[in-house]
Parts: sequence; structure tokens; C-alpha cells
Amino acid sequence: MKDTLKHRGMRNKLAELLEAKGITDKKVLNAIKTIPRHLFLDSGFEDHAYQDKAFPIGADQTISQPYTVAFQTELLQVKPNDKVLEIGTGSGYQTAVLLDLKAKVYTIERQQELFKKTRLFFNKMNYRPKKLIFGDGYKGLPEEAPFDSIIVTAGAPEVPKPLMSQLKVGGRLVIPVGVDEQVMTLFVRKSEKEFQKQELGAFRFVPLLEDKN
Ligand code: SAH
Repeated sequence: MKDTLKHRGMRNKLAELLEAKGITDKKVLNAIKTIPRHLFLDSGFEDHAYQDKAFPIGADQTISQPYTVAFQTELLQVKPNDKVLEIGTGSGYQTAVLLDLKAKVYTIERQQELFKKTRLFFNKMNYRPKKLIFGDGYKGLPEEAPFDSIIVTAGAPEVPKPLMSQLKVGGRLVIPVGVDEQVMTLFVRKSEKEFQKQELGAFRFVPLLEDKN
């Protein structure tokens, strides 16, 4: 598959739609206009890639809906060179959006099949996260902490404690919390001990899987 003017036109339309749905951050909208989402999907989905929908990416997982990606990314308030931890690499689309915002991205995926597929794809596309890790994101990434922000792209039954403790003071954690349906939740670390919590509406994600080992 290639990236063509036609795809670019569809991306511009998608960005307009997301703006109409309430996304205001121009850098985020620009990332949506830039990242070729159709290349993150199997070729059968090429014609649908710029609809505001989630699609299957194998291993029972999905690429998040563009609105959800834009909404979560906007909440992170990424600045160039920010250290960002992503839990749930999946197709890598959200990772590519963060890279477009010039973040240093550390991303963790626990499905080996997806991890391998996305690693190959990043190499092919020349997307360069600082680290792409096969592992359990529940534990975060203590050896690289603290982070300016942390984004979880799967539904968490509860907020993993290690993620809270791996945030810088002033840092932001965006995580969908819940079992069947999730509430998008933003935590801002105000001090070592103090977190400000905001709940920002209902979403639906595949579950964050806890290691049973
Ligand atoms: N950001 C991805 C979303 C993929 S769906 C995209 O836009 O494509 C969520 C992903 O989280 C899935 O790939 C799933 O395998 C992964 N996941 C679930 N539990 C996890 C865990 N404990 N640690 C890391 N990744 C996890």
C-alpha cells in the first residue's frame, strides 16, 4: 500500500470531523492529517481507515478510534522532548501520533504477535520510539521513570499504582478506567503525594490484561 493524495484528502476530512467533535489542539489535528492510518491496518480496511471507527488489528485487539486517540493525546498536553510512556502499543498508530508531537516515546505491548508485527512496521516506516518493549504495562517502566506523561490505551479495571508513582510532579496520566465501559480519567500529579483527578466521559476499550504469572 502507498500513501496518496486521495488518502491525504481523507485525512484532512477526518481532522475536520474531529474538530467538529470538539478536538481543539492544532498540533493534534495536524498529527491526524499527517499519520497514514491506512498503513497501520490490513489492506482490506484501506477504504475504511479514515472513518472515525476502531478496527481489528489481530490477536483480538483493535486500533483505537481516531476521536479517542485525539481526545487522549490532547489531554496529555505533549511538549517537544517530553518523555511519554504508552501502555498498549497495538498497531502503533497512537505511538506515531506522539512521535509526530516530538515526544520521546516508551511503549509497551503484551501480545507478542502484535509486538513483533509493529516492531517490523516501525522499522519499515522509520518510526523511532525510544523503546518498544514486549511486556506487562501494569508495572510501567521503573528504569526509565519519571515520565512527563503516561497514556494507557486499554481499559483498566483499576489504576495501576506503579503508573501513578512513575509520573513527574506536574505530570499527567490519561487512563480509561472500568470493566465493560470505561471512564476517561486524567490524573495530574500536584506534588509527591497529591494527585488531582478529573473524569471526562465514557469510552469503550479492549481490556488491559494483567499478568497472571
Ligand atoms: N494504541 C493502540 C491501541 C491498541 S488496543 C492502537 O492505536 O493501535 C490496546 C492494546 O493494549 C492491545 O494491543 C493489547 O494487547 C495491549 N495490552 C493489553 N494489556 C496490556 C498490558 N498489561 N501491557 C501492555 N499492553 C497491553
